[in-house]
Amino acid sequence: MGRAVVIGGGIGGLTSAVALQRKGWAVTLFERAPSLDPVGSGLSVGANALKALDTIGLGDALRGLSSVQGEVGIRRPGGEWLLRTTGEHAAQRYGDSIVLVLRATLVDLLAGRLDGGSLRLGTPVTAVDAGTGVVTTAAGEVEADLVVAADGIHSATRRALFPAHPGPVHTGVTSWRLVVPRQDVPVMTSETWGRGLVFGVVPLSGDLVYCYATAPAGQSAPSGEKDELLRLFGGWHAPIPRLLAAADPAQVLRHDVLSLDEPLPAFHRGRVVLLGDAAHAMTPNLGQGACQAIEDAVVLAHLAGAPGRQAAYTAARLPRTTTIVRRSRRIARATTLRNPLAVRLRDRAMAIGGRLDANLLLRHMDDVLGWTPPAA
Ligand SMILES: Cc1cc2nc3c(=O)[nH]c(=O)nc-3n(C[C@H](O)[C@H](O)[C@H](O)COP(=O)(O)OP(=O)(O)OC[C@H]3O[C@@H](n4cnc5c(N)ncnc54)[C@H](O)[C@@H]3O)c2cc1C
Repeated sequence: MGRAVVIGGGIGGLTSAVALQRKGWAVTLFERAPSLDPVGSGLSVGANALKALDTIGLGDALRGLSSVQGEVGIRRPGGEWLLRTTGEHAAQRYGDSIVLVLRATLVDLLAGRLDGGSLRLGTPVTAVDAGTGVVTTAAGEVEADLVVAADGIHSATRRALFPAHPGPVHTGVTSWRLVVPRQDVPVMTSETWGRGLVFGVVPLSGDLVYCYATAPAGQSAPSGEKDELLRLFGGWHAPIPRLLAAADPAQVLRHDVLSLDEPLPAFHRGRVVLLGDAAHAMTPNLGQGACQAIEDAVVLAHLAGAPGRQAAYTAARLPRTTTIVRRSRRIARATTLRNPLAVRLRDRAMAIGGRLDANLLLRHMDDVLGWTPPAA
């Protein structure tokens, strides 16, 4: 095999570096930050990504952590379920439930699998030549047979390769993420939808709970993000107010949600491929952004030994990720409804759908979670 350069040490870049190394590639990974501290707190890892992680020997390490058990689904702010299933049903259907982890846990596991010497922290890539595969950093130039640009939603590589592409758009939604100690109360994995508002609660291992929320984007809250969350969600069903009250204000992360609505014409140019958010950043509604980056990485490693690998990678990944980006965006739009009549109709449709088909929530995800990696 040849030499690969990976740009970016997020989940996508790390997974592709590990997957390529396992196929015999000499890999150098450049990350501009001085450490691999991931942005964000919790992460749901679906059955599709677990199967992908099996191909690099990491699936079972994650399965041993916290997976969804018992009821899971969508609720109203008063607590009534609109749609629900169980972790056990998901496991029956896809062979795996959904695993819930701290991002740092997954990043540490991936970094622990990298061959020594391949990681260059604090090294921003400043230029990439798609034709020659020459990658430039302050430390000099490296020529690669394959360049994997996993440089995130604001990817400079994407802009350089596809200058006419409009890039990510603002969805009009802002998000919060926080991890709080479990408050000695029952916590079920659920997402609660209100008028333009969403609050998610996800139990993690180690007596921690990952919470996330979305709302229409606006000015940053004058009294702080924790107060803003209490103002918006403090009257919602248990245990939301109690979890919010326990939050450390300094640990509440807030980011506006962007999406790469316009699909790229290809995920490659010359020797360079785009991977993860650089290729197909999506809204977080399906919990699939990192999962799709993991899929990208193992598919790329599978194809990388054959001629025409870059085009084969685009053919394998662009249609699937485009469908998922669009579906995630449609769900995002449904969560932003604020008109009371529209919200009532939305909720009634979900409740009736759920009564008519107990498997609706899972069936909707069959093509996403039922994916399996290419045979070795
Ligand atoms: C609120 C929220 C919740 C989410 N929840 C989930 C979830 O539950 N499950 C899920 O699967 N996904 C989820 N996602 C999506 C997920 O976070 C992303 O899809 C995923 O982290 C993308 O990984 P990545 O490696 O492609 O990019 P990133 O994580 O953005 O990594 C890019 C890396 O490239 C580095 N970089 C950039 N430019 C350069 C350069 N020039 N040189 C060197 N390095 C560079 C950056 O420093 C960064 O480390 C969520 C997203 C949001 C916003």
